[in-house]
Amino acid sequence: AALGTAEGRAALIAAVAAVVIAAADELTALDQAIGDGDHGANMKRGFAAVAEAAPTLAEKPWPDLLKGVGTTLVMKVGGASGPLYGTLFMELGKHLGTAPDRAALTEAFGRAIEAVKARGKAEPGQKTMLDVLIPAHAALAAGADAATVKAEAFAAADRTVPMLATRGRASFLGERSIGHMDPGSRSSSLIIAALADALSA
Ligand code: ADP
Ligand code: MG
Ligand code: MG
Repeated sequence: AALGTAEGRAALIAAVAAVVIAAADELTALDQAIGDGDHGANMKRGFAAVAEAAPTLAEKPWPDLLKGVGTTLVMKVGGASGPLYGTLFMELGKHLGTAPDRAALTEAFGRAIEAVKARGKAEPGQKTMLDVLIPAHAALAAGADAATVKAEAFAAADRTVPMLATRGRASFLGERSIGHMDPGSRSSSLIIAALADALSA
């Protein structure tokens, strides 16, 4: 994608939003199993607002664009995931320069994950979105290509199935949280996959 142009950035934002919106039913089903069943609707509402703002956001340099995505998600997604995804994108914006390369993206993504951990008082292994964000970041940091980062994000979401949830709403279920994929891990894997596809296209 031609990320140096507003059109290219708008297309990237629209592509990611479309993937999340298309997955709403699947995310709802996952959240019905171990949560309150609103993750699909939450994410669809948030990313529809992001898609609507895409032409305006795309005119901005990366730090402001990402801050705009983050604040939109905080305002529109709600639930536990809204502030966490909001933090992820706002912190990415805070740590990314105006012309980021792969090294800058890796560094900023790592810092954004640290902010999500702090905000949610969570660590990997607790069956949350961190269980996808952290392995995807590790793959990126290890030099993996886009297809490999994407595959690792999906595999990491699959690996949340046998986990016991100890953060978020699913933790209220205790042992009954075992055997289901974490909804936020699935949405994180979809966002990362859509970004990987768009950035490598
Ligand atoms: P809610 O649980 O408030 O209804 P959502 O259904 O939109 O919010 O999002 C649930 C997802 O948020 C979970 O599947 C999990 O991945 C993520 N999540 C919840 N709590 C935390 C936390 N403390 N840290 C990281 N991620 C979390
Ligand atoms: Mg929910
Ligand atoms: Mg909820």
